[in-house]
Amino acid sequence: MTLPATTSPIPPAAEPEWLTSLNTAQRAAVEATEGPVLVLAGAGTGKTRTLTARLAYLLRTGKARPGEILAVTFTNKAAQEMTERVAALIGRPVENWWLGTFHALGVRILRRHAELVGLKPGFSILDTDDQVRLLKQVMEAEGIDDKKWPARVLAAIVQRWKDRGLGPENINVADAGDFAGGRSAALYMQYQNRLRILNAVDFGDLLLLCIKLFQRHPDILSEYQQRFRYLLVDEYQDTNVAQYLWLRLLAQNVQGGASHICCVGDDDQSIYGWRGAEVGNILRFERDFPGATVVRLEQNYRSTGHILGAAAGLISHNEDRLGKTLWSADALGEKVQILALWDGEEEARWVGDAIETLQRQEISLGDMAVLVRAGWQTREFEERFMTLGLPYRVIGGPRFYERQEIRDALAYLRVVAQPDDDLAFERIINVPRRGIGTATVQTLHTLGRATGCSLMTAAIQLCTTDELKPAARRALAKLIADFDRWRDLSRDMSHVELAGIILDESGYTAMWQADRSAEAPGRLENLKELVAALAEFENLNGFLEHVALVMENDGSTEGARVSIMTLHGAKGLEFDTVFLPGWEEGVFPNPRSLDENGAAGLEEERRLAYVGITRARRRLTILSVANRRIYGTWQSCIPSRFLDELPAEDIERSGSPGLSAGANRAVGVLREMRTGWQRAQLSSSSSGGYAPDDIYDEIATGDRIFHVKFGMGTVLATDMDRLTIAFDAAGEKTVVAGFVRKA
Ligand code: ATP
Ligand code: MG
Repeated sequence: MTLPATTSPIPPAAEPEWLTSLNTAQRAAVEATEGPVLVLAGAGTGKTRTLTARLAYLLRTGKARPGEILAVTFTNKAAQEMTERVAALIGRPVENWWLGTFHALGVRILRRHAELVGLKPGFSILDTDDQVRLLKQVMEAEGIDDKKWPARVLAAIVQRWKDRGLGPENINVADAGDFAGGRSAALYMQYQNRLRILNAVDFGDLLLLCIKLFQRHPDILSEYQQRFRYLLVDEYQDTNVAQYLWLRLLAQNVQGGASHICCVGDDDQSIYGWRGAEVGNILRFERDFPGATVVRLEQNYRSTGHILGAAAGLISHNEDRLGKTLWSADALGEKVQILALWDGEEEARWVGDAIETLQRQEISLGDMAVLVRAGWQTREFEERFMTLGLPYRVIGGPRFYERQEIRDALAYLRVVAQPDDDLAFERIINVPRRGIGTATVQTLHTLGRATGCSLMTAAIQLCTTDELKPAARRALAKLIADFDRWRDLSRDMSHVELAGIILDESGYTAMWQADRSAEAPGRLENLKELVAALAEFENLNGFLEHVALVMENDGSTEGARVSIMTLHGAKGLEFDTVFLPGWEEGVFPNPRSLDENGAAGLEEERRLAYVGITRARRRLTILSVANRRIYGTWQSCIPSRFLDELPAEDIERSGSPGLSAGANRAVGVLREMRTGWQRAQLSSSSSGGYAPDDIYDEIATGDRIFHVKFGMGTVLATDMDRLTIAFDAAGEKTVVAGFVRKA
């Protein structure tokens, strides 16, 4: 593919720095303004920077006015940053242009033509909760049992259809599945009708209705096609079918010639397959837009050599990829630090200490990030940073104790500890649904106000009278009895165990288990993590007090803060210093993703790891721990297979000095842990060929040993580096040999 010859209209002497600082390939992508352009390149090669420069270039050269450009970013934050960047580049604010996420752009178009798709101009946009509530109503009207067929599941099904660009009329019988006896498509239709009556749309509609509008009104489509002379799309690898269709329609040139669309992306960073993104879109670009200029960027400007080497080594284990070279003119820099620690608490402590050390070297907290695989992992870091007084923010999600499921679970615990906690009681009185409606709650309030008593007391009284309908009264009586029982249990039982019982018996866990939305598994994990957090406190009251204080300590501090976020949320961002904790089998790669999608799932997890590594500019630490407390019980963990895939020359391994007397021993431990995974693989594929490490040979069945966490015990069995031990106090446990000393 040859690049079209371009003569820059700006005289060389007057060329601004943002243009001259681009490398040849980047500049080619900026100046190839006519016709389709695909920039396909690895992380940190300046794709976003090139796209931003292209925007500025179009405006500066007068090739386009702001209103003639349509630019799509993956997040609202990215849109805002790009607006600021471009304004800075061209030296004036840009107004009246079309830059934003697919959703934001979609709603803007819909607002102008609401009537044509059956809406009135002031239509409202439902959030996920409203959406589920509405679906529930639709199902109720149809007499479908919400317990058997939860509305949330239907919401997820509908969303998937919308992501694939399918309206209710496009669903064929085979696609409908078995939800509610194959009635999902009909329910979808009714849901859409209800939305129209309410003059409302959900997120999926924002694009779907646009597509419909364009298909039914070619005149309007062509108006937009003429208006948007230049289209720019960042993170193209993560567009789903609906987004793709929307773009294709807008990018079709009216005259049948090539449209001026420029997409940038990286197939190695496609991480939203689970949400319907199709990496195929990027691979198909040249077919979709014939005559496309394809630009490859190979120089990475973000990361130092070792970080890049680690990333490249890791991603080379994926088979399903285009493959590309990346190089850096930067020094090799520091090696990627691979750290093996004892447990999650030590992990959080270590990261907190490292951040404080960097802070003392005048490195800004804003340049540091902790990137986790799953939402539950933020909790331990939040607690530690809180203790240290380190300002932090959780990006892309509420802080741990503010999450819906955590607040619900806490509400149960609060009512156990304190029956008169009205706010807590009201929060969960009908969560999960148990037939206590607003009318009943209203009656409780009225009685409470009249007699000056708490809701719980009012409830107890109303259970003995006839004010309430029998069904509501029965449900309320059962809930009160439940709380009485839990309160009784709390006298003898450990609060950790009790919490598990409450979550199960109340039906709260089951509610999320039945929920098949994308968020549900994460919420269940958060609940487990909450139980783990409880174990760190003597009793329930101590824990609740801690939470109250943590919540009050609401980071209103201005200034730089450490960022904590998920790997998914970190896409496109960069930080000087990055910590990647929890690289253990069972955490990362995420087992669910492996279960559901097999080899493809593993490759998507690996791309996620690649995204994580390539966020770092100068310092990268990857951590794994030997033990994690999951649901209150300790589990030994083996390091993530991804650690074994990092090239030896780019990394430096070390262990926690606190684990044993000498550093050498710590390295030995590490070697043991590292080979754990390889061994697991070996033993599954062949029986022989493995020469055991001789370090821990001295420990044999029957030996008395000492374990840092569990104390004294007797070895029952040995299996490579895993030991089964009868601890004097803690009972039988399986532990890693490296953490055990002969007594
Ligand atoms: P990702 O794939 O992670 O989204 P990207 O390809 O979009 O990465 P950018 O974020 O645009 O990469 O650039 C990475 C870093 O490299 C940024 O700090 C950017 O300013 C810098 N950079 C890119 N190109 C150049 C250049 N020609 N000269 C100097 N710095 C550059
Ligand atoms: Mg980018």
